[in-house]
Amino acid sequence: MKELVVISGKGGTGKTSVVASLATLAPPRTVLADCDVDAADLHLILSPTIRHREDFVGGSRATIDPSLCIACGQCVQYCRFDAIHPAPDGKTYQVDAIACEGCGVCERFCPAEAIDFSPAVNGEWYISDTRYGPMVHARLGIAEENSGKLVTLVRKKAKETAEAKGLDLMITDGSPGVGCPVMASLTGADAVLLVTEPTPSGFHDLDRVVDLLQRFQLPAMVCINKADLNLELTAQIEAYAMKRGLQPVGRIPYSPAVTEAQTVGLSVVEYGDNEAASSVKAVWERVAQFIESLN
Ligand code: SF4
Ligand code: SF4
Repeated sequence: MKELVVISGKGGTGKTSVVASLATLAPPRTVLADCDVDAADLHLILSPTIRHREDFVGGSRATIDPSLCIACGQCVQYCRFDAIHPAPDGKTYQVDAIACEGCGVCERFCPAEAIDFSPAVNGEWYISDTRYGPMVHARLGIAEENSGKLVTLVRKKAKETAEAKGLDLMITDGSPGVGCPVMASLTGADAVLLVTEPTPSGFHDLDRVVDLLQRFQLPAMVCINKADLNLELTAQIEAYAMKRGLQPVGRIPYSPAVTEAQTVGLSVVEYGDNEAASSVKAVWERVAQFIESLN
């Protein structure tokens, strides 16, 4: 099984709509993994039917039992994250669940054993069916950390699903940015498709992602979405990408059909004949050849 990870470096490049089109065009023996767990939206186009749902336990969190707390204040001294404050009654202390980083130090030093440090549910993950095959996706709770861990879990479950069903391609909608979640999206992948746009911020973020990719030494391609918005910058990005060892696999023009398709829950390829759809098809052919060429 080979895994293609699609990343963008920044939000708003249209990465997820490209992924949805690739899912439409890929052979039936494909599993999808949505690793954009902080703002998952692939499901809006692919309308998955959930077949399996499980809690995601990404870490532990402290809570103080007010009936045991003797208000000594030691936990406040030990908490490096300023997550413990006086309770509204002024007689005990309480933990700010959002600020708590789950280090567990307070529990160790509480003389009254008033602090519970138990695994916390941080979100949910799902195995679903879509009209283009199985998809593994997830939802991280609001203000929850550990998205890197959840990304790793989603990819692991997608791989297990592929093995169980005898599928030979995995398309992963990677996390945005250059931090821990995107690194968790890339580790052990076979190929990467970078979707960017011809804007100064798109170029800047591409530069940062290419630095990251070189650390992973992964075979990588680049595709420029909304390419006709600035053809000069598009050409500069392609030249830059080639210099850094990425293979340009095509340009997708700006088209209102992309948004129109999304509003009715379709990929642009399914929406009908339009320029963006033809360009995405050409991109997919080059991507498929590139993946095929990997041993
Ligand atoms: S260390 Fe324990 S007893 Fe002391 S204030 Fe904190 S929770 Fe209460
Ligand atoms: S677990 Fe760590 S971060 Fe959370 S309240 Fe305790 S000391 Fe602070």
